[in-house]
Amino acid sequence: MVKNALKITGLLLGIVITLTLYNFFTIDTPKVSSKAPALSLDASLAHEVLARAIRFPTVSYNDRTKMDRKTFASYLAFLYTEFPTVFSELDVDIVAEMSLLLTWKGSNVSLKPAMFIAHHDVVPINPETEEEWKYPPFSGTIADGYIWGRGAIDDKGNMIALLYALEELVKTGFEPERSLYFGFGHDEEIGGKKGAGSIAALLKKRGKKMAFILDEGGAVADPDLLKELGVKVPTAMVAIAEKGYLDVLVEARGPAGHSSKPKPDTSLVKLSRALLKLEDNQPPLDNRYVIGTIEPLLPYMTKGNQYLLSNIWLFGPLVNQQLAQSAEMAASMHRTVVPTIARAGIKSNVIPPLARATVNLRLFPGETPEQVLKDLVTIIDDPDVSISILRGHVASPIKPASGKEWDLLYQSIKEMDPALPITSFLDFGGTDLKNYYDVSDRQFRFAFHPLNRDILDGMHGVNEKMPVKSYAKNVEFFYRILSNAAEANWLSEIE
Ligand SMILES: [Zn+2]
Repeated sequence: MVKNALKITGLLLGIVITLTLYNFFTIDTPKVSSKAPALSLDASLAHEVLARAIRFPTVSYNDRTKMDRKTFASYLAFLYTEFPTVFSELDVDIVAEMSLLLTWKGSNVSLKPAMFIAHHDVVPINPETEEEWKYPPFSGTIADGYIWGRGAIDDKGNMIALLYALEELVKTGFEPERSLYFGFGHDEEIGGKKGAGSIAALLKKRGKKMAFILDEGGAVADPDLLKELGVKVPTAMVAIAEKGYLDVLVEARGPAGHSSKPKPDTSLVKLSRALLKLEDNQPPLDNRYVIGTIEPLLPYMTKGNQYLLSNIWLFGPLVNQQLAQSAEMAASMHRTVVPTIARAGIKSNVIPPLARATVNLRLFPGETPEQVLKDLVTIIDDPDVSISILRGHVASPIKPASGKEWDLLYQSIKEMDPALPITSFLDFGGTDLKNYYDVSDRQFRFAFHPLNRDILDGMHGVNEKMPVKSYAKNVEFFYRILSNAAEANWLSEIE
């Protein structure tokens, strides 16, 4: 009996070892196609246009009345001056006063158009950290190999590169077969409802559906950002979907009065307990989207990681723990929850009857704000604590990294660098694309600029900057994808 059990265990172990080794040794070596022909494109001055664009403090505020419409108007006028061919050759709609929709009509109207979007508003500068900026945030200084300032990466960097490429392409006399649309929003940083939302509504009214839309969100990531995967080379990371969003208000009530004779379980104590429960009861890690990120990168990993990650079927829980060391990876693997604002009390010796906190959640595809609210009520389980939805929306449509639209993007990236690995991921942040769910369900988030920890920290933070050396590359990438998308042969079968 014992002998038989040992035999069976041995046999099973043998099968498992064989399978894991098979998966390890059959990792595909990447094919490198030949480089695409060079373009007659001079983008060596593009970074200077970006520097000028940064000098317009087009700041978005939650309180919309604080937005400086004059600055936005002068920024739009600046675009007309910098890109005269674009604004004379394309159809221009000024939408919601400060946003833009450009249409480059193609010769074949039966082809579904493609769309490229960006936003020109930026987040405010935190007065507490203003001193830490190496160069003033709206100076658009070019120094030390970077263009410095708010918006350099998010998102004027992409907007200017895209317009620069478009200007160059239009100037050559190129005639698109497929129509190309360009949407530039003015309030992405506060949700994009007025800008991108109005552009999307206008397109819907005109009955336009896009083959795909390309926005910000992905980049060429430094190995430093992929160390949990053991990837040793820079990698093109394309976000094929983004998580949903939810803000909830948590309100706790308790006995009030003089602090010299407190009753137990005050509002602040109850609120703290509720917030702790939320942190301690997060949904388990789910690697279903991370698998799509991992597979194309296997050939570029360290041997140990290759073995482990080519056998997620066996090492799933171990892999999840390893990946979750990175806050970004962890965020792509489940719904996150974090308190961001708390308010209670007016005086040190008065017990407040009410304590409130705003909690921000990023929802996993498939979750709805209403379902999640029910979850939170169950987790907190306290009749003195109420929770309500402030705002929220579901995750974007999610389609696999395949199909003709994906191939077009993939090819355009490969033309830039045939050896560059390309993979997809679920964006844990949000973009203006959430306003375009009805316009296209093929949504990509990518630009050809490098991203490392240092550059990433500057976004919405201090010392935002774009490397000068690689900026012309971003222009070239847009030039290639615009020309590829405009030619019918790529997506002609899309109806
Ligand atoms: Zn942005």
